[in-house]
Amino acid sequence: MRSAGVSLGDLEQIVLSHLHWDHHGNLAAVLAAAPGIAVVAHRSAEAGLCGGEGEQSRQAAFLLDFLRQAGVAEADLALWSARRPEPPFALDPGRVRWVEDGDRIQAGGALWEVLYTPGHSQTEMCLFDRGSGDLMASDHLLPDISANAFVEAPPPGLAGRPRTLLQYREHLLRVRALPADMVYPGHGAPFRGHRALIDRRFAEQDERCARIAEALAAGPLTALEVSGALFPQLRGRAVYLGISEVVGHLDLMESRGQVAVDGNGGVLRFRLK
Ligand SMILES: [Zn+2]
Repeated sequence: MRSAGVSLGDLEQIVLSHLHWDHHGNLAAVLAAAPGIAVVAHRSAEAGLCGGEGEQSRQAAFLLDFLRQAGVAEADLALWSARRPEPPFALDPGRVRWVEDGDRIQAGGALWEVLYTPGHSQTEMCLFDRGSGDLMASDHLLPDISANAFVEAPPPGLAGRPRTLLQYREHLLRVRALPADMVYPGHGAPFRGHRALIDRRFAEQDERCARIAEALAAGPLTALEVSGALFPQLRGRAVYLGISEVVGHLDLMESRGQVAVDGNGGVLRFRLK
């Protein structure tokens, strides 16, 4: 901002694309320095932005359950149950303008249409300007890496794990249909050709499913074991990234009738059908 000759006081509003620490982590500090700034976020971000420690504990408990079912040993779960260093958000809900799919946001001389695109994050939205074809793609579309459809807790009050890769693919198709021109991603340089990129991501997902099928050919495996076969380099808390990636693709294979899952409430084992 300094190199562009602007300061926090020049900002009128902050639009949160999604609640991942590299995208919203400085929000409290920015609001403390410039209290007049309007904040805009998708309604699904309310628990994470306003729920304080209760919401943080709910998400941590979900994660531990999920990792246990994936086959992570109790002794190793301590890596995840250690308290997160980030302080929880406890914003006043009245401080935020909550938007929903189809709402409009006036910003930067354009009128942006909100597209709720859960998958990579349950709180993610893209913004599309139909006039110019500009698409603010957040982490939904990244030019250099495929976005992990992170396994996350369901919204408060809802039971069951969201099938995040299936959600992600549904919204990739929706974004693919947009007449977008320039895409501004959450990481990496702006690019054109969103349809070719989305087609590549779908092909990569099919390839990953094929590798998982190879791993399962020898017999049933836990998600942790499949992750170890595909991503043997992952260590410590980063193992979650591999498990999340694998479980998303196992969900996809299950939806295609290729894989079945066994295990009631305990460790889940996946097998080829
Ligand atoms: Zn993200």
